Amino acid sequence: MSAKIYLHWTATHYDWVVRDHYHTIVTGNGRIHRLHDYTIDLSGHTYRRNDNSIGISCACMGGEDPWDLPPTDAQIEAMCQEVARVAKSWNWTEKDINVKSIMTHAEAASNRDGWIVHENYGPLMWGGTGERWDFLQLSRRGATNGGDVLREKILKYFQGASPAPKPLKFVSDQTIEANGKPLTVSIDENGSSWARAGELLTLYNLSYFWDSSKRRILIGNSDTAPKYLQDKVQPSVGYPLFEMSLQGGNSPIILTGIVRDGRAHCRVLEFAEEFGITASFNPLKLGRRLGG
Ligand SMILES: [Zn+2]
Repeated sequence: MSAKIYLHWTATHYDWVVRDHYHTIVTGNGRIHRLHDYTIDLSGHTYRRNDNSIGISCACMGGEDPWDLPPTDAQIEAMCQEVARVAKSWNWTEKDINVKSIMTHAEAASNRDGWIVHENYGPLMWGGTGERWDFLQLSRRGATNGGDVLREKILKYFQGASPAPKPLKFVSDQTIEANGKPLTVSIDENGSSWARAGELLTLYNLSYFWDSSKRRILIGNSDTAPKYLQDKVQPSVGYPLFEMSLQGGNSPIILTGIVRDGRAHCRVLEFAEEFGITASFNPLKLGRRLGG
């Protein structure tokens, strides 16, 4: 059976970002928080359906009256764009965007794909116990075809209907010192320095594997733990993205970077922070790797 994508809400406040539950969480402001590599299974997002699937969740619908914190428009659009990106990266076609491959938790709970793997714990109107109803509706008293509406949006993004974001501009190149050696960095329009991820990893003797087909870098070091920083690189940066993740376990994402001129680049300070490398400024200089 081919992989499935399950769409959830967290039943929390808008800023809830916690690892090990979902592969990706979208906060109320529409920002994407990539938490785990899409190639690994997590065990707890969709009852009896976690093998060969991923869970993407909007942080919302918490509290006594969940509709006091409904999914925001920004959140729904960002989630649908993310699903479209994943579908593309898995070489899906438009035909794959259907209820058998992309399901809301409401639909999954009611086995709406015809795959009966558990009792019906979905919406009452579908004969279920009513325990899970993620995206049955997208708004208070809204129509009960939330899954269809989301798949329509996903298809639209999959077909490339939304205008491509303007790529981040790079204004100059510089050479800085990193671990006592020269490193070429590119400065973007906001003043952030970027460097080739492979070069940074090599300078710090970190073993890695570049999986070009999946645009990811796997890190072998067991002494690294992601910091889950809030300010991650977003798709709006306008370049193809790559992900750096830790090998093993739930394969947490360390950072997201961009592919520029065919090479993986990441932000220098984010890299330093994630890997416990000291940094000093004016001029920017990276020191030794001393730990977090
Ligand atoms: Zn759910």
